[in-house]
Amino acid sequence: MIAKQKYDYIIVGTGPGGATIAKELSKKKKRILILEYGPRYTKTGEITVTRKLFLDKEKKPIKSDSGIWIGRTRILSGSSYVAMGNAVTPPNKILNEWNIDLSSELESAREDLRVKLMPSHLIGDGTQKIITGAKSLGWEMKPTPKSVDFSKCVGCGICMYGCPTNAKWTTLEFIDESIKNGAELLLNTEVKKVLHENGKAVGVSILNNGSISKIYGKNIILSAGALETPRILQNSGIKEAGKGIGLDVFQSIYGYTEDVGMKNEPIMAVYLEKFLEDKGFFSAPYMYPTITLVRNLVDFDRIKYGILNQLRTIIKTRKVKAKKLIGMMTKIRDEITGEVRNDGTIIKSLTKKDRESLDEAYEINKKILIASGAKPDTITRGVYESGHPCCTAPIGKVVDKNQESSISNLYVSDASVFPSPPGIPPILTIVALSKKLSKYLITNS
Ligand SMILES: Cc1cc2nc3c(=O)[nH]c(=O)nc-3n(C[C@H](O)[C@H](O)[C@H](O)COP(=O)(O)OP(=O)(O)OC[C@H]3O[C@@H](n4cnc5c(N)ncnc54)[C@H](O)[C@@H]3O)c2cc1C
Ligand code: SF4
Repeated sequence: MIAKQKYDYIIVGTGPGGATIAKELSKKKKRILILEYGPRYTKTGEITVTRKLFLDKEKKPIKSDSGIWIGRTRILSGSSYVAMGNAVTPPNKILNEWNIDLSSELESAREDLRVKLMPSHLIGDGTQKIITGAKSLGWEMKPTPKSVDFSKCVGCGICMYGCPTNAKWTTLEFIDESIKNGAELLLNTEVKKVLHENGKAVGVSILNNGSISKIYGKNIILSAGALETPRILQNSGIKEAGKGIGLDVFQSIYGYTEDVGMKNEPIMAVYLEKFLEDKGFFSAPYMYPTITLVRNLVDFDRIKYGILNQLRTIIKTRKVKAKKLIGMMTKIRDEITGEVRNDGTIIKSLTKKDRESLDEAYEINKKILIASGAKPDTITRGVYESGHPCCTAPIGKVVDKNQESSISNLYVSDASVFPSPPGIPPILTIVALSKKLSKYLITNS
């Protein structure tokens, strides 16, 4: 017999997927428990955030076996804490390919995230130079839709280290609303696997304060992100999870100008629409805060941010004259390959087609940077990177169209369920999919 099922819903993870479900279901006065691996993090700034948030359990940067850097954070609010505030509606082409209608949910997501186009007064000088450069090639840059309250935004450009003015939306807003509505939250708690009896989910096994225990609930929603959800599914007996991963891989490219650079200005303030629909390229002006830029250009392996390494990084940083550096990046829709293994290893290489796309994107960005005043002999390619792991429990393969797994009452709602990499900032799509699942759960359970 199942022990007392105290909760209607146990939600695992507080990124855009989990937090949306928590918010929507808590409005219906359901008994909800939210389980989160990490702590509530409040600091913003450069080195501290980089050191603490972008490393794996062994305190190493997350990389695939072939060396693709992967960014994600495990704290309350997941990777929304470090997001750039881009809130892009997926092109119809992608939703048609997925055969999913999200129109009403996307509209509601845009309202919740207060999405507005980047205002011209916050666009920095470097970006302005790129807009003009692209225009001279016949390519128009459009203001990026952002989930940012521009009345509070000071245009500091360090969104990926946490917003110091609270201008940027994060899922902390949804979580706090859920708690107000009665949801319970347990931090610093790692969900290991889903407990099930006779093909039906009945609870989860957790690691908290060094000890393993069990919590019972009627429905389990996994939203631990595309790198962790498949591992929990595998531990729960769903072995096909994690067979294949998409990354929306990107590569940044930089060049020095005689005069202006993009230091300390909003990143991806505008984007190039021209190649989005036909080539699936999401291209935008791009610049890291200097400390990360050094890592991106130098690619020194296995950074452990001990005091000595912080000093080394600062010294290298001085050599990068970010005040005169401009940059671009392009995310591509990479092919799903590789796997996420249960030990946390990420197997993922670029295919020939992926490399061709990245090379083509590089040539386009190089043209734009040179047209914007970058000296051709200073053009430098960054490393291959990703901030959008996805597709590790895709709809139609690991979960059905209602995002339910082969274990009934076990649902998945995060970037894992994407049928293919969208190649665009995915938060709005994850929120919309989670709203759709919430509606289904409210109606059917
Ligand atoms: C630097 C950076 C910038 C980005 N900028 C943008 C942007 O501007 N716009 C955009 O749309 N996207 C952006 N992204 C991508 C976006 O942040 C992610 O795609 C999105 O957060 C994924 O949401 P998710 O719900 O799938 O998972 P996550 O956000 O990864 O959330 C997963 C949650 O589960 C928790 N968790 C993990 N394992 C467990 C476990 N075993 N038990 C309990 N809890 C667990 C984690 O701590 C986390 O809270 C960015 C990503 C990065 C890294
Ligand atoms: S540019 Fe600065 S103030 Fe504006 S949203 Fe980003 S971090 Fe916040």
